[in-house]
Amino acid sequence: MSPDPVDPAGSLEDRLRTVRDRVDEASRRAGRDPAEVTTIVVTKFHPASLVRDLHALGVRDVGENRHQEAAEKASELADLEDLTWHFVGQLQTKKARQVTAYSHIVHSVDRSLLVDAFARGTTTVDCFLQINLTDDPARGGVAPGGAEALAEQVLGTDRLRLLGVMAVAPLDEEPRSAFARLRLVSERVRRLSPESVFISAGMSGDYPEAIAEGATHLRIGTAITGNRPHRG
Ligand SMILES: *Cc1c(COP(=O)(O)O)cnc(C)c1O
Repeated sequence: MSPDPVDPAGSLEDRLRTVRDRVDEASRRAGRDPAEVTTIVVTKFHPASLVRDLHALGVRDVGENRHQEAAEKASELADLEDLTWHFVGQLQTKKARQVTAYSHIVHSVDRSLLVDAFARGTTTVDCFLQINLTDDPARGGVAPGGAEALAEQVLGTDRLRLLGVMAVAPLDEEPRSAFARLRLVSERVRRLSPESVFISAGMSGDYPEAIAEGATHLRIGTAITGNRPHRG
């Protein structure tokens, strides 16, 4: 399937409906129940007012990738008590505890020092282990071979609950085959932690492929929000 072209003339509501329909369609095609797939709308670079508009359209899961920006929006929107804030960006160790002040789910746990930082906190958050599906260590994520050791460390920490694994598809590979590799990592992690069944994968350009490989949490930005105001 080709990605949705972003229609800048369409409304937020139209784009949201289009994505929801395609999520349903891709789920059914994969023999899955669409209700088991959560769509997180990634609102980075957009103003808090966009998050409010999304909430009015029924969105309850939003994603951000920079601590400062996310913290400001979460405080501005504190009245929207049923929003779940997902932190999906690379995270500096010294920011870990600050992120738990407003984020319910952190998708980017990818190294031992970061787990230590959460462990020293006082708030418990749900998390995904971010897996690097590229050969470039500079991209975020633990190498697939390191996933189990990191999972063990998370499982030994009361401050983190392990939901599963997360990844971004490499740019130079067909997304479906990359997501198939993520699924294998997920199966290995589930042998250590049977309840850690969730897979965070799929962005605007590749969410149908992610659904086909078992993704349970899609992180979709531009296909719903339209193009970001600044470079993302
Ligand atoms: C920005 C971002 C997304 C959403 O990207 P789109 O291509 O706009 O859908 C998803 N995941 C992460 C980690 C991101 O930083």
